[in-house]
Amino acid sequence: MARYKDSTCRLCRREGTKLFLKGDRCYSDKCAVARRSYPPGQHGQGRKKVSEYGLQLREKQKVRRIYGILERQFRNYFEKAERQKGVTGENLLILLERRLDNVVYRLGFADSRAEARTLVRHGHFLVNGRKVNIPSYLVRPGDTINVREKSQASPRFKEIAEAAAHRNVPAWLKADSSTLQGQVLALPTREQIDTPAQEHLIVELYSR
Ligand code: SF4
Repeated sequence: MARYKDSTCRLCRREGTKLFLKGDRCYSDKCAVARRSYPPGQHGQGRKKVSEYGLQLREKQKVRRIYGILERQFRNYFEKAERQKGVTGENLLILLERRLDNVVYRLGFADSRAEARTLVRHGHFLVNGRKVNIPSYLVRPGDTINVREKSQASPRFKEIAEAAAHRNVPAWLKADSSTLQGQVLALPTREQIDTPAQEHLIVELYSR
């Protein structure tokens, strides 16, 4: 499967904001955005004027990068969101939030969405008692997410359990760090999604 292999911090610098793609490092003074807050590349410090199209494009790229999704799949989410009832931009964010890798991250069972994706791919999680190793799996209200019993004994999951006890979990999810179990209480509302997105710009971009 295709995936982005270049420097992760470059993506944040390109979007001019922290996308929190690297766990703890993002909160330290090693963060590349904190150190060099201009876009990467030869002309990074020269670009100033941004067209309406440019704004819409950057917003789409930012959200796509936050969730770590490639263009084709992101477009598929948009088309699915368009077919659903309600506000397309909100539907899009709700679909992205429902991805299993995002839910694992939101529950505090991984440091970043990238780590969550790897852990899911490696088969460390059960959904409703069954192994699911597909990061894009969409959770539903009532689903329970567990770290496999065998995996819980690993040093990494011991660290995760300790850190998860101090993480804030959004109200649509419930986490138990002692058993590494999570539950989906409901679908998220737009207000419960703290992703810094102006989703109407993405809708405008794809409606051109
Ligand atoms: Fe982005 Fe985190 Fe890198 Fe900072 S440390 S540039 S927030 S990925």
